[in-house]
Amino acid sequence: MIDLHLHSNASDGTDDPDDVVRLAVDAGVTTLALTDHDTTAGWAAAADAVATMPSGVRLVRGAEFSTASPDGRGGTVSAHLLGYLFDPAHPAILADQERLREERTRRMAVMTERLRADGYDVDPAAIAARTGAPVGRPHLGRALVEIGAVDSVGDAFDSFLAKGGRYYEPKADTPIADAIATIRKAGGVAVWAHPWARLRGDVIEPEVIADLAGRGLAGLEVDHRDHSPEDRARLRALTRDLDLLATGSSDYHGANKTIPIAAETTAPEVLDALVEQATGAEIVTSGQ
Ligand code: AMP
Ligand code: ZN
Ligand code: FE
Ligand code: FE
Repeated sequence: MIDLHLHSNASDGTDDPDDVVRLAVDAGVTTLALTDHDTTAGWAAAADAVATMPSGVRLVRGAEFSTASPDGRGGTVSAHLLGYLFDPAHPAILADQERLREERTRRMAVMTERLRADGYDVDPAAIAARTGAPVGRPHLGRALVEIGAVDSVGDAFDSFLAKGGRYYEPKADTPIADAIATIRKAGGVAVWAHPWARLRGDVIEPEVIADLAGRGLAGLEVDHRDHSPEDRARLRALTRDLDLLATGSSDYHGANKTIPIAAETTAPEVLDALVEQATGAEIVTSGQ
C-alpha cells in the first residue's frame, strides 16, 4: 500500500516523524510520504526510522506548501500543494518555506490576540514553544481543547477557527504557479492536495487546473476523504484529459484528525511515474 500524504509533529500532526514511519508500516504501508506543512524538518528522523525497518519500506520525502490559487471566477482561494522529492536546500525552497513559517507565526499572534480579548486564555509563545513546528490552526485548536473552550480540535475548526469567522486570520500564501515553479526548480514534483475539499471553502474551476497543468503541475490528489464520489470521478476524468497523475492519500494528522493511515492510497504505477519525474532527492529505502 502506498500513502503519499502524512503529517508528523514537525508540523501539525501529533506523532514524531519516526513514529509516523512505524505506524505506517504497522498499517501495512510499503511506501509513505512525509509531507509536513511548509517544512522539511521531519525528513531526517523519518529517514533514520526507515533505515531500521524490514526491507521493502520506502520513504518519499515531501512537504505541503501553503499556496493561493485563482479560483477561475475572479477570486482567490487557499490551495495546498504537495511537493515531492525536491532538494530541501535549494535557495528558492528555503526562502519560500521560511516566509510561510513567519507568516504562520504572525497569523497565530493575531488569532490568539482576538481570542484573548474575548477572555480565552491562549498564549502564542506557549503554543510555539510546545510544538517547535510551523504553527497552524490545529495547534490553536489543541490549546482551545485544553482550556475547555471546545471538546475537540474538530469542534474548534467548526467554531473558533472557521474561515471567515470572528477569530480567523488569513495568511499570505505563495501564488500557486510560483510554488509549482519553485518545486520544479528544486527537482521536485508538484501534486495539488485535495483540490476539491469543498467543506473547507470555495474551490477552483477545472480551467484553473488545466492552466496549471500547462505550467508544471504533475498531478491531483483525487482520492482524499474530503472529496465526494462525484468529485473524485470528475477529477479523475480531468487527470486523464490533462495527462496528470491521480494520487490518493490519507492526509494523516495523528490525534488532530480522525482519518487513519492508508484510508486512501495511490496506485504503484502512479508512484513510479511520479518518482521518474523527480531529480531533487532520492527515495529512502529500508534494508540498504
Ligand atoms: P492552517 O494551515 O493553519 O490554516 O490549518 C489547516 C490545517 O488544519 C490543515 O492541515 C488541515 O488538514 C487541518 N484541518 C482542517 N480542518 C480540520 C478539522 N476539522 N479538524 C482537524 N484539522 C483540520
Ligand atoms: Zn495539517
Ligand atoms: Fe492540506
Ligand atoms: Fe495535509
